[in-house]
Amino acid sequence: VNKQKLLILGGGFGGFFTYVNLPKAFKAKALDITIVSKSEDFVFAPMIIESFTGEIDDKDVQFPLRDIINKKQVRIVIAEVLSINLTKQSVHTNARIIEYDYLVIALGSQANYYDIIGAKKYSHALKSLDDVTVIANSVSNTLSEKPLKISIVGAGPTGVELAAKLSELTKPKRFSRTANQLRSTIELIEANDQILAYLPLKLSRRAAKILELQGITIRTAALINKVSKHALHLSGGRVIQSDIIIWTAGVRPSLPSITPIVNQNKNGQIKTDQYLRVLGYKNVFALGDVATVEKAVSVIPASAQAAYGASKLVASNIVDSIQGRELQFFNYRSKGIFIPLGKWKGVGQVAGINIHGPVVWIAWKLIYVWRFPIPKRRLIIGWHWLLRTTNLW
Ligand SMILES: Cc1cc2nc3c(=O)[nH]c(=O)nc-3n(C[C@H](O)[C@H](O)[C@H](O)COP(=O)(O)OP(=O)(O)OC[C@H]3O[C@@H](n4cnc5c(N)ncnc54)[C@H](O)[C@@H]3O)c2cc1C
Repeated sequence: VNKQKLLILGGGFGGFFTYVNLPKAFKAKALDITIVSKSEDFVFAPMIIESFTGEIDDKDVQFPLRDIINKKQVRIVIAEVLSINLTKQSVHTNARIIEYDYLVIALGSQANYYDIIGAKKYSHALKSLDDVTVIANSVSNTLSEKPLKISIVGAGPTGVELAAKLSELTKPKRFSRTANQLRSTIELIEANDQILAYLPLKLSRRAAKILELQGITIRTAALINKVSKHALHLSGGRVIQSDIIIWTAGVRPSLPSITPIVNQNKNGQIKTDQYLRVLGYKNVFALGDVATVEKAVSVIPASAQAAYGASKLVASNIVDSIQGRELQFFNYRSKGIFIPLGKWKGVGQVAGINIHGPVVWIAWKLIYVWRFPIPKRRLIIGWHWLLRTTNLW
């Protein structure tokens, strides 16, 4: 049988789950699959922030792709994609050139610094466990010497969740705070008029109140025009001094050069049709943070939840395409928004209804445990979380 060469670029939510969602028998019979990733590891990003306080083990946040992929069914190439040639149907990596019949582009995103001078150089990004280690070391080193000033730029879901988590880290237990911990400050800086700008104002205000009760300072409508070592310079002349600056102010797609040029939106995301095929190409799919659906029926966020949903459709559309069947549209339905804001706290929205309190926090934990890519670890992770949250362990 002449197998079709399926090349998946990226071993994250979009890429890995496209592979997982392909039917087993079809994978074996009809496909010759290669996954290219520059990192050896799968990063379960929604849980990264939990690793700051050790509620989840590092090995459950980031683990080798080779441990979760059946090597008999797929070739894993650890290499960086340098360019894609859609006419020649080939991809250049720093290891070799790989040809394909079907291509899936799922290369994710990187921090967007909006060309602000010094932003990349003087701030920390938060994408992997290495970033967590660097930030956590910096927090404990500074705290051992003096009170700490942390600035988090960007009050989207990652920024607010991180602020709440760092507030737990810098002020751990009610009666054992050191003077340095007590006088430490965390500031959340946001360009929009409200934090969590995509949520209704009422919910955003509730989230702000929860964070402020944890001692976090919120500064909205604050535009940064320069970052220097230990300082943020706002338009209007104000300067915020800071020991640690963390950048969570949005992402842009991480794309190599593509020939011929493809349609992209103003954030650089590749435009796809509703079948998630790159416009103009019947054998090239793009999903996750690198892509945007032209004429989408509903708003599709750059999130793990959306990338997972898209991966299911890309997998079934590849099968349908090879078997000559009609493809399906991507009809993204959010399962809900759940934003944890420290232990037992959170805000969210399900079916258009605003929710808050422990229910959000618990639902968020359950959803991510359920989605964890190694089924046999799910129960253990849930159990650890329960014990560590209730301080039983
Ligand atoms: C701290 C944090 C918390 C988050 N929390 C949540 C959450 O609670 N809920 C939620 O829904 N979403 C969350 N997200 C967002 C979510 O993780 C992303 O939207 C999701 O991972 C996107 O999937 P993806 O496949 O597009 O990219 P990724 O999962 O990032 O995968 C991209 C892959 O491409 C590889 N790659 C990149 N460039 C190259 C290259 N040139 N060559 C080879 N390989 C390359 C990478 O190594 C990686 O394997 C969070 C993100 C972060 C950073």
